[in-house]
Amino acid sequence: MEGREQDPPTDPEEPRVELIAVRADNPGPMTLDGTVSYVLRDGEQAWVVDPGPKDPEHLAELLLRSGDGARPAGVLVTHRHADHSAGAATLSRQLAARSGREVPLWAADQSAVPGSRPLPAALMGGGGVVAHVVHLPGHTADSVGLLVAGGRLLSGDTLLGGSSTVIVPEDGGSLTDYLQSLAILRAMAIDGRIGSIHPGHGPALESPLDALAAIEQAIAHRHERIEQVRRARTAGVLTLDRLLRSVYGPDLPEPLREPARWNLRATLDHLAEGH
Ligand SMILES: [Zn+2]
Repeated sequence: MEGREQDPPTDPEEPRVELIAVRADNPGPMTLDGTVSYVLRDGEQAWVVDPGPKDPEHLAELLLRSGDGARPAGVLVTHRHADHSAGAATLSRQLAARSGREVPLWAADQSAVPGSRPLPAALMGGGGVVAHVVHLPGHTADSVGLLVAGGRLLSGDTLLGGSSTVIVPEDGGSLTDYLQSLAILRAMAIDGRIGSIHPGHGPALESPLDALAAIEQAIAHRHERIEQVRRARTAGVLTLDRLLRSVYGPDLPEPLREPARWNLRATLDHLAEGH
């Protein structure tokens, strides 16, 4: 899939930024129909968000989409997971080799993304701010989103198209953080600052109403799970395996069992914090 979309910016002060989605060929239970990489272009410069897996064909496509007269200005990953970041260092080297200038790789956690440097607060183009970085811990500790000019939110794995995300405690993921991040996004959407959501997996939510509905649905889904776990525990279901069966049912497919365990652990941690 290659989508192209160019909404007129809502604010006349904002630069025109073209957003190009390029989906990698890495479908799976956790990646849905594949990781969606994004190229941002403001006419002079190009940025790549989440280069995805280290797949030569996919990286070649990103190289092509970010070229064509534009100067590569940086590569950013929304979080540490390999399906978003494994190709990032290679792509930034390829962009640097092609342009003859250094192309930084940015990530929130340098220890988790080799070769990266700290994230800027915003991506700056010739005409102003191309995108603001929004810290959204929860899926992992180092998850961020990008609010691109025109109110387009690149949500990484914080919000997915047509599926709920997983909280990964071993990567610093936390349900308490996640609910706070969703509350921030909800406030931004109600404020009219989010016009559409472009996730790391699954289809985009193309209208402000769909974006707000997706955020509210994610919040409701988590609260429903928290209540399910609370009720099961009150009823004496205490081990993780029995909770898994009680909350997710007996027919959970094998590839989803481990992620469901992570979500349960995150929910138990959240409850243990006194929520
Ligand atoms: Zn992820």
